[in-house]
Amino acid sequence: MTDYIVRAIAKEAGILALACISTETVADGARRHRTTPIATAALGYGLTGAALLGALLKVQQRVAVKFDGSGPLVKLVAESDSYGHVRGYVAETALPWPLPIEAADVAEALGDAGLLRVVKDVGLPELAESVVPIQTGNLDSDLVYYLTMSEQVPSLVEIGVKLEPAGGLLVAGGLLLQLMPGQGLIELAKLADRMDDLPPVEEMLVEGQTPEQILAEIFGEISYEILEQRALVFRCGCSAEKSQQALRLLRPAELAELIKEGEAVIECHFCHEHYAYGIDVLEEILQQVEARRA
Ligand SMILES: [Zn+2]
Repeated sequence: MTDYIVRAIAKEAGILALACISTETVADGARRHRTTPIATAALGYGLTGAALLGALLKVQQRVAVKFDGSGPLVKLVAESDSYGHVRGYVAETALPWPLPIEAADVAEALGDAGLLRVVKDVGLPELAESVVPIQTGNLDSDLVYYLTMSEQVPSLVEIGVKLEPAGGLLVAGGLLLQLMPGQGLIELAKLADRMDDLPPVEEMLVEGQTPEQILAEIFGEISYEILEQRALVFRCGCSAEKSQQALRLLRPAELAELIKEGEAVIECHFCHEHYAYGIDVLEEILQQVEARRA
């Protein structure tokens, strides 16, 4: 199954629902960053969480989830746009951790203190940043806290990442249910109970259930309709051109140092892509920078 996210609405109950499978997206991120199992799992939570928040955006908007926790993974950053393009990283990709890795291990590795920032680019000159204190280290419950406290939208979030016994990724996916404006909490509370009764989302994915089937299990007899299905993919917006722009911001002395070293390598945090520039390009940039400063 390739990755996708489904958006559904239960009009009478006043619930917007998202369900996704993000296994390939997370596996791609893990390959790029060469993560250890604990870092893979944390990246899985981040990329899936960002994909869910991204699916709430309008076209051309972006969202970033930045988890600066007290745990040894230090930092988890994941971004998504409204088109299902997701990217992200953890600070300590090589962190060792005993297997098997459960959700509680990921929470411990991320840490239960620190700050969760959600930054939105909605096309205005200023980015909209919300900061909430980390409550648990479980990204899904911390996102619920953010959505409830900061966006003031009662929400349920469940993210599931399951690793193989040897530590490779088996499945990743998630759910997000939100109360629509003007609705009472009763229906959402019922769905929360139902989610508690059902197996965890990662177990349902392991059994081969699709996001649509998972939503059908959650909604039960509540009527709803599927609004949209959208592909999810790990995709970074970096490019050779953009990283060369970064070199043009260096001072001449810094560029001269790079020329002495023989090359400059710029590494993208988000996708681990390397962009290398030889002496020819660096000297050309140095000349341009000196001309600009003259
Ligand atoms: Zn990149």
